[in-house]
Parts: sequence; C-alpha cells; structure tokens
Amino acid sequence: MARIVMKFGGTSMAGTERIRRVANIVRAQAARGDSVAVVVSAMAGETDRLVNFCREANPLYDPAEYDVVVASGEQVTSGLLALTLQALGCKSRSWLGWQLPIHTIEAHAKARVESIDAEALIASMEAGEIAVIPGFQGLSEDGRITTLGRGGSDTSAVAVAAAIKADRCDIYTDVDGVYTTDPRIVAKAKKQKAVTYEEMLELASVGAKVLQTRSVGLAMKEKVRVQVLSSFIGEGAPPADDLPGTMIVSEEEMDELVEKGEMERQLVTGIAHDKNEAKVILTRVPDRPGAVANIFEPLAAASINVDMIIQNVGRDKGETDVTFTVPQSDLARAQALLEDRRDAIGFNRIITDSKIAKISVVGVGMKSHAGVASSMFRALSDRGINIQAISTSEIKISVMIDEDETELAVRVLHTAYGLDAKD
Ligand code: ADP
Ligand code: ASP
Ligand code: MG
Repeated sequence: MARIVMKFGGTSMAGTERIRRVANIVRAQAARGDSVAVVVSAMAGETDRLVNFCREANPLYDPAEYDVVVASGEQVTSGLLALTLQALGCKSRSWLGWQLPIHTIEAHAKARVESIDAEALIASMEAGEIAVIPGFQGLSEDGRITTLGRGGSDTSAVAVAAAIKADRCDIYTDVDGVYTTDPRIVAKAKKQKAVTYEEMLELASVGAKVLQTRSVGLAMKEKVRVQVLSSFIGEGAPPADDLPGTMIVSEEEMDELVEKGEMERQLVTGIAHDKNEAKVILTRVPDRPGAVANIFEPLAAASINVDMIIQNVGRDKGETDVTFTVPQSDLARAQALLEDRRDAIGFNRIITDSKIAKISVVGVGMKSHAGVASSMFRALSDRGINIQAISTSEIKISVMIDEDETELAVRVLHTAYGLDAKD
C-alpha cells in the first residue's frame, strides 16, 4: 500500500463536471488500496478574479487581507471535491490550511512553508479517509492566513508529500507531462519521459509554468518523487501507476535511463519563455565604484528581484548606461524607488519597456559542450530577431528579445536544437 499525494490544477477543477472527473481519478487511485491526500487549486480564472477584487477595493492593498481574499478559491474547491467523493461512496474530508496546520513564514502573498503538522492527517488517511487539502494557503506564526505565491498549489502538494513521506506526488494538469517547450506554442514539442530536478528547476524559474519553481526546489531538497500528468483522460483510464506522465528524477536516475536506452542524452532539454519581465535602462550613471550598488540596494531592500543586468562600456566623462530587468508587476515600484534616489545614484534618465520577452534554453548537456550559445544566436539572427541582452548559468542561456517575436523565437530554437517531434 503506497501513500500518494495527487494535486489538481485550476483547469482540472473548473466546474462541477470537471471535479467529478477528478473524483473518479482519485477514487481509482484509492481503489488500489493506496492512502491518498489530494491537494486542489481554485477553479481556473478564480484567483485572477479575486486578485482583481482586491485591486478594486484598494490599489495599495494590505497583503494580509489580500491573502484572506485570494485563499478562498481553494476553500471552495476542496469542499466541493470532498462532497463529490462522498457522493461516489468514498470516505473523504477537507483539511483547510489552518486546520492541519500548514505553518508558513509571515511574508503574505509569497509565504514559504516551514512545517506541516501531519499526524492527524496521516491517521485519517490510514483509516481509509481521502484527505482533500486546499493548495496555496497556510498559516502564519501570528495565526493569520497566508498564500504561497501564484501557482503555489504545486508547492503545497510537494510540502504535504514531504510531510507525510509520500511514495509519490502526482501533479495532474491540462497537459500530459513536461514537454521540450510549451506545447501550446510548438505543436511539435515532445513529451519527456523524465527530466532532472536541476533542469526542471531552471526551466520553471525561466517561465515554464507547468510547475511552480519553489515546488521543484522543495522536491529536490526533500527527495520527493514528482510526476506530471494529465487529468484530461477518458473515463475508466488506468490510474497514474499505469499511465505515466513525466517523472522528475535525479541525475543518477537519468544516467540509468539513458544506459537502458529509455532516454536519449540531450544537449538541450527544453526551451522556455517569459513575458512577465520589464526592461529598465538608467542612462549616464557615473562609472565609479559603488554606483551599481546604489542602484540595486534599494531594489533588494524592497524585495524586487532583478534578473538580467548589463553595464555597458563606459563612455566619455566617466559615465555609463545600466540595463536590467525586473518583474513587470514590480516595475512601477522600482521606477518610483529609483526616481527618489536620482541624485544619490546620479543617473540622467530612466527608460522602461514592458514589451520584452526572455527566451531560455536549458540542458545539463551544456556543462560539457561548447557551441550551444553560438547556435542560439545564429538561429535567431537568421530570422532577423534582435538580441537585447544575454545571461547564462551553467545549464541555461537566456536572451531578451522583443515580445512580439516570442513565439517565432521559441519555434526557431526548437527546430535549431533538433527537438521537433518527427511526423
Ligand atoms: P495548473 O492549473 O494545472 O497548475 P498551469 O497552467 O499552471 O496548470 O501549467 C500547465 C501549463 O503549463 C500548460 O497548459 C502549458 O501551456 C504550460 N507549459 C509551459 N511550458 C511547458 C512545458 N515545457 N511542458 C508542458 N507544459 C508547459
Ligand atoms: N490558485 C492559485 C493561483 O492561481 C494557486 C494555484 O493554482 O497553484 O495562482
Ligand atoms: Mg500551475
């Protein structure tokens, strides 16, 4: 008898008919004799709707009250799934974040799970009751509701799996696995049998939203076996054990799969895009020690994540331009903070552009192979796509381009690295 966590995303939970499908999948898993905990998202579009209410009520909303509002979507779906399972004859109950509880740090709207009291949960699961847990929500030290950042139900699922020492954490979504790129952009994207934690972490962090970045980091740290698979399967389809999606594996497991001929060793595992960043250029910044620290310290203090950074070669009179990217949602705050410090930093103008995209290629094979970057630059230039900035890590290369060219760039690179599925 295995212990399984099953997580269902927003499209899987969108309406009572879809929830009935989910309940059937859960029932089939439990019917194998496994103890099951289910983590659910709000119905698709619901969290966006709730976020908008907060903005309308108060544009400078208090994050603690924002959490009270946005966490409610998952409360509805967890109750509905428990009700639907009961209607199918299963024993089931919901466990809200504060009832377990799921302890988090206090950072509202982007809280991190610290620990989960899983004793009562395990006891009820062992007694044959299917536990349904709303994703995305937790409880702060001072007893208030918190949320884990957008897409956070994936992290809730992995955290629950770690807490109950689950044999597997199955993430059910609207695609049947992790593909070489977003299958909604490239029809010839290929489903991967397995992806390493390291690659998945990098892919998620550069925009492949199929898993929330933090969920992958947590799974890697806690050694949780994560599988991504589709909830859009026919009635009567076999449970996940016989219908595998994409397994997230260690590098050693990947080596074994390659040796057995079940996976090909690839130079590039995936291509991701991110349209949610904005470019900021500060012109005529003094070219002297401390100038860059003066720019980035206030942004860091305001928890604004800066991603790509380019400091151009100094021009005359000891001045230079500094270009960087921030999340679009933080652009207005970043701009205001920098304007406030215009004299201390000593720049001339702030130029911003939200119509940019970041395209990234990821693969562990890059560690030992040269030429991945140059083929990326050549493939883009052959299609007339201009690169505005570049950043790299050991297993990733990212370029900033015009947002309108996103889909074209992803397709061109997918073909250039030989990732297209054969017809
Ligand atoms: P859920 O609501 O189930 O959490 P998400 O919308 O967060 O689902 O994530 C699933 C989506 O991720 C897919 O519909 C797909 O468009 C997108 N996606 C982006 N990159 C990839 C990729 N490499 N492989 C699979 N899906 C991807
Ligand atoms: N409902 C939340 C969101 O839309 C959390 C999740 O679905 O993972 O971001
Ligand atoms: Mg998601």
